[in-house]
Parts: sequence; structure tokens; C-alpha cells
Amino acid sequence: MQFKDIAGQRDVINRLTEIIDSGRVSHAQLFLGATAEGSLQLALAYLQYLCCEHRQHHDGGDLRADSCGECPSCKKLSQLMHPDLHLIFPNAATSKVSSSNIWSGEFMTEFREFLLQNNALGTLDDWYATLGTENKQGMIREQDAAHIVSDLALKSYEGGWKMMVIWMAEKMNTAAANELLKTLEEPTPNTLLLLVAESDERLLPTIRSRVQTVRLRVESGERKVENQAEFAQMLVEWLRLLFNLKKMKELSAQVDRMAAMNREQQKQFLGYALGVMRDCFLHGAAGLPVEIGSGDQKFDAMFPQMVTANNIELINTALNEALFALERNANAKIALMQLSFSMSMALKKR
Ligand SMILES: [Zn+2]
Repeated sequence: MQFKDIAGQRDVINRLTEIIDSGRVSHAQLFLGATAEGSLQLALAYLQYLCCEHRQHHDGGDLRADSCGECPSCKKLSQLMHPDLHLIFPNAATSKVSSSNIWSGEFMTEFREFLLQNNALGTLDDWYATLGTENKQGMIREQDAAHIVSDLALKSYEGGWKMMVIWMAEKMNTAAANELLKTLEEPTPNTLLLLVAESDERLLPTIRSRVQTVRLRVESGERKVENQAEFAQMLVEWLRLLFNLKKMKELSAQVDRMAAMNREQQKQFLGYALGVMRDCFLHGAAGLPVEIGSGDQKFDAMFPQMVTANNIELINTALNEALFALERNANAKIALMQLSFSMSMALKKR
């Protein structure tokens, strides 16, 4: 798959090739968007460009660069036969495969063919029809996650990247997601984990916060965007107060506003905050600006410098603990107030 074979998404693609060229490849990424609109295509073309032995750079034209499509690596990847490319996808028992221990590997030949035949644009329903699951819903399960862990622990066959693509990552069951979380927390060197999902709402916030999101340009719902703006504003108001705990009244009022959201929104908000902190850390370290959305350029420029190697772990832990508490139905005001104190302390330790 080359970028030129993908419809649209030029801005997204050009940003991706720029990042690869600069050598700042993030080991875990989420390609978010409908498969039929090219999210899986984008992930596959991304890998091909990353591994290409003769990357082509174009002056002018709508694509700044693309893989060559000719070198051995390009050929293996375009046929999905690269030994370091691993694929995981939803699967279910069929008339042929009924063992209780099924995983993606049992259907690899069919899946490769499915991708090659419809140019990686086939939907999940198309896949189930191909597979003949007879109305059983597919899933990515513990056995798949165990293979993700063991495949990534192996030595790379070709000495380069070990690549894992998880298609329809939102179909992971909880056990699989928890197993994957461990891999995300302690990545082995030269591994690349690409999650491809149509919606991130069903992904654990703790997973979302550990992956860099590449969002396809076609926006599905406007509510999500609205939420994002609300979250950005709420986050900035909260962060400002954390720098000055003497304003306890204001902080308490802010915590009340956060606790007034429903439980699901509270968790989404903390997931959002985790993502912003992670971006601040990564971009701040690389000296790049981060759009926090405060509407205040001074704040947007200053804040990323507050998140450093000294406190990113403390910040992560504080937010994850609050998430965990909310998931267990703890009192939201108490959990968020506690979080405010630990965040405030963490920010001071930059
Ligand atoms: Zn090539």
C-alpha cells in the first residue's frame, strides 16, 4: 500500500511522512477513522513508508513523499508477507474453526486475501461475511493479546521494526485490553504497535492515553468536537488553579463543575487530560508547540514546559488513579479533589 493509493487525507499523510523522516516515530499509535474511509490503508501505507529502502520525496504535488513500491521491503509489505508484520483482528468460531482457543492466526490466510482483494477498505461486516461467522459477533480476545506480547518479544526477522497492526481495536475484550496495556507500558525496543479503530469510545482511557492518535480527516459526529472544546476549556481552567492552591474556593468550585458531569463524561475528561499531558511531554521535549486550546497563547506556550521527564510519571499515576476510582464508583468530588492535590504537587516537581 502506497500513500498515493489512498483517497484524500493529504494533510494527514504529509504530517506522517514528516514525522517519520525526522525519526520521531512513536511506538504506539491509534489510527482513528472508518475502514471504508481508509484508516487501515493509512496504517499499512505508513508501515511501508517507514520500512521503504528508497523513500521518494516529491517537490510540489499534493504528497510530499511516498514509499517506492519497488524495494524488497515494499514488495513484502504490499503483499502482507513481511515476516515482521503481525496482524490481529476480530475473529469468531466458524464451521471450520470451532476450537475454544481460536485467535487471529487461525484465519490469517483468509484475512490477508480479504485485505488484498478489497484494498484494505472492507468493513467489519464484510469480514464476518467472508469468514462465515454465521451471526456470531467477532472479538479480539486474550489469546490474541498473548500472541501480541509473544510476537513482539521475538527478535525481528529482518533486523528492523517489529510491526503489530490491530484492526478494529475497539473489539478487544477487557482481558485482551488489560494484557495489551502491559505491552504499552513497557514496550520492547524497535516495536511498533498500530491500533486501527473506527471509534475510540470503547477503548479503555488508559489505552487511549498511551497511544498517539492519528485522526482521519472525515469527522463523523459533531458532538465529539463540541465535547473536545468543552474539555479543553475545563482542563485549562483547572490547570490554572493547580498552580495556586491558595485559591481553594475557586478550586473547589471548579471541582464541583467537573463532578457535575456524568460518570462517563468524567472518565472521558480524564482520558482527554492524560492525552494532553502526554502530548505536552513529548512535544515539549522536542521543543514543539502544543495546542491545548486555552485561547491564550502565553498559556499554551508555557504549560508544556511544566510537564517533563521528572513529573510525567507522577502525573500519569495521579490521573490513572482517579480514573480507577471513578470506574469503581468512588465519590467524584473526593476523587477529583485528591487528584487536584496530587497534580498540583506533581507540577511543582518539574
Ligand atoms: Zn520501497
